[in-house]
Amino acid sequence: MTWDDIQEVLIDGTAEEMLTVSCPECGGTIKYFHNDALACFDIVCASCGSRCNCYFGHGSDLTPNCVVFFGSEAILNKDAKLVRTA
Ligand SMILES: [Zn+2]
Repeated sequence: MTWDDIQEVLIDGTAEEMLTVSCPECGGTIKYFHNDALACFDIVCASCGSRCNCYFGHGSDLTPNCVVFFGSEAILNKDAKLVRTA
């Protein structure tokens, strides 16, 4: 799995798929931070600090699925909580 794959899963994937992603460098846990106002979507490894160098270029009005499922910031491990209410 590459960073491109991880970004795609976080944008378009299911919650179950998101909990299976791991760092391409070390296999560690992935965390992300998303902020619409700053047009920021940061995906990093919680273990080694390796970072997705992809840019979220799908238009600022599109909310990544991970934000819908887990909120604007989360660590995608088994303790990640679904915050989806709809
Ligand atoms: Zn890593």
